[in-house]
Amino acid sequence: MNSPAHDDFGRDAVQPVSWPIADDSIRDVFAKMLSDGSWGRYHGPHCESLQTALADFHSVEHVMLCSSGTSAVELALRAAKVEPGDEVILAAYDYKANFANVLSLGATPVLVDTLPGLPILDPTQLPAAFSSKTRAIICSHLHGSFARIDEVASLARQRGIVVIEDACQTAGGTLNGRAAGSIGDIGVLSFGGSKLLTAGRGGAVLTNDAMLAQRIRLYTQRGNDAYPLSEMQAAVLLPQLQQLPHRTKLRLTNVQRLLQQLAPDSPLQAAIDPSPLQLGNSIPAFYKLAFRYTTRAGSKFDRESFCEELRTRNIPLDSAFPGLHRIHSQRRFRTAEDLPNADLLHENLITLHHPILLADALEIDKLAAVINATG
Ligand SMILES: *Cc1c(COP(=O)(O)O)cnc(C)c1O
Repeated sequence: MNSPAHDDFGRDAVQPVSWPIADDSIRDVFAKMLSDGSWGRYHGPHCESLQTALADFHSVEHVMLCSSGTSAVELALRAAKVEPGDEVILAAYDYKANFANVLSLGATPVLVDTLPGLPILDPTQLPAAFSSKTRAIICSHLHGSFARIDEVASLARQRGIVVIEDACQTAGGTLNGRAAGSIGDIGVLSFGGSKLLTAGRGGAVLTNDAMLAQRIRLYTQRGNDAYPLSEMQAAVLLPQLQQLPHRTKLRLTNVQRLLQQLAPDSPLQAAIDPSPLQLGNSIPAFYKLAFRYTTRAGSKFDRESFCEELRTRNIPLDSAFPGLHRIHSQRRFRTAEDLPNADLLHENLITLHHPILLADALEIDKLAAVINATG
């Protein structure tokens, strides 16, 4: 049992939770790598085992391991044959590197609005955004909400546009019985140091399309793998993949417990899409948990100082992503419509980082109590 934690002023604080988790399964992997030398070799059994395990887990045909989630998105764009002058549609609220990846291929990002209050692309914005140059759509599951990937895919398929499903924040999530990352034409995963499956760095591209897979292999294989994931990285990912279903469920249970206890007038209101939970056979994954922040009447806090205050109590809250249209010159992208929902997310969104979501119930109760008593 944890002893109660306090901040410098003796106030209640939650126990800090460190990441990554070095449990016995990870210790065993390191011990085995030391004895068999696989930690330092180009080739060994681990990458192949990981490829097979990821293919089984996601029920996909092809898994290409690579050096990061960012490079996985780049490879997906290359597989979609995105070339200079082409256009790629993404939500105006999305991971910054996705925008940069489109630019790096000489293509133009076309930014569309999100659903109201949710960090996911609004599919009804797509028809106005399509042009004869549209090659791909990047569709990201973010902060505990699933993207509306089926609606996006049905609009894209009619036009031969490739749907890239960014599941970097959603490893282990299930949407209507399908693993996140397996639903779009191509899915991407990240194994970065903060992610739900972590190896410090690393990523993967998933697809059932043999041609897309072949293009990625041709691009990365230059007699040597130009975007490699190492044996050492693969080895530490394997046990985490086995633990992932259990941890995904525990995080969801704790999110539900936390949200039930937040005061109705809390400055934080959950910004997650409840509809997958009503669908059945769906389990959202929480790399971040999103909230809309509203300043309480008479409060001394704004969004940033509210997060700072709670971080002193070991509660990892941060302002979320900036809107891509708010931080890039308008010369870099195109829009078809206004972006009022993404503007609000830019101004109000806060995220809670995931390690605390594996804590025990008492810590979650304390987390809710400290949030309720602040602001
Ligand atoms: C982390 C992340 C990435 C990129 O992953 P890296 O492995 O850090 O390059 C891409 N998309 C989203 C939504 C992410 O959260």
